Amino acid sequence: MSLLLLDLDNTLVDRAAAFRRWAEGFTRTHMVPANEVDWLVDADRDGYEPRDALARSIQRRFRLNGSAVEQLVEDLRWGMVEQLILDAEVPRALCAARDAGWAPVVVTNGTVEQQERKIRRMGLNDYLAGWVISESAGMAKPDRRIFELAADFVGVPLGGAWMIGDSAHADIGGAHRVGIESIWLHRGRTWEEDEFAPSIVLDSCPAAIDHVCTQ
Ligand SMILES: [Mg+2]
Repeated sequence: MSLLLLDLDNTLVDRAAAFRRWAEGFTRTHMVPANEVDWLVDADRDGYEPRDALARSIQRRFRLNGSAVEQLVEDLRWGMVEQLILDAEVPRALCAARDAGWAPVVVTNGTVEQQERKIRRMGLNDYLAGWVISESAGMAKPDRRIFELAADFVGVPLGGAWMIGDSAHADIGGAHRVGIESIWLHRGRTWEEDEFAPSIVLDSCPAAIDHVCTQ
C-alpha cells in the first residue's frame, strides 16, 4: 500500500467553476450586469479572501443593505458548495488508484464543517481512505506535520507517497518539505517558485491520479 495525498479545492473539486456559477446566480438575483461576475471572481481571490471581507466588498460595490452582510457570508460559505459538480473522471481515477494499491487521503486547509460538507456532498468519502483538515489538525499545509498526520491516519508510511495539488506554496511546497514526489495542476498558470519544483506538471486531477497509478 502506498500513500496518495490529494488537495481538495481546485484539485479533486473544481471550486473555481463553482464560485463562478455562484457569482452568475448572484448577478441574476441582484439584477446587476452579468459582466460583474468577473469582478466577483477577482474579489474572491480563488477563495483566499476572508469571507467576511469579501461580503463587505460585495455589499459596498452593489450598495446592498448593511444588514445583508451576515446572510452574504453564509451564502458565500454554503451556497457556493451547492454549486460544486464532481467530474465523473475523479471517482473513476480514485477507484483505479485503490485497485492499484494506493490509499487516497485528502490533505486540505480550511474548516472541518465546510471541507467535510464538500467531501460528502460530492460523495468523495466513498472513494477516499481518509482526510485531514487543517482546522482539526491544528496545522496547515505546507507544514510537514499535516502530511505526517495523513500518513499516520491510514497507517501507511510517507516514503514513496505522492502529493497532487494546485497550490505551489501549500501543496508542492509541502511535498518538498517532506521529500515526496508531487504533481502540480497548472490551471493555466506558469511555475514561478525558484526554491522547489513539482516532479510533474499536469492539467487535470484524474490525469494526475492516473499518472501516479502507473508508477
Ligand atoms: Mg487547492
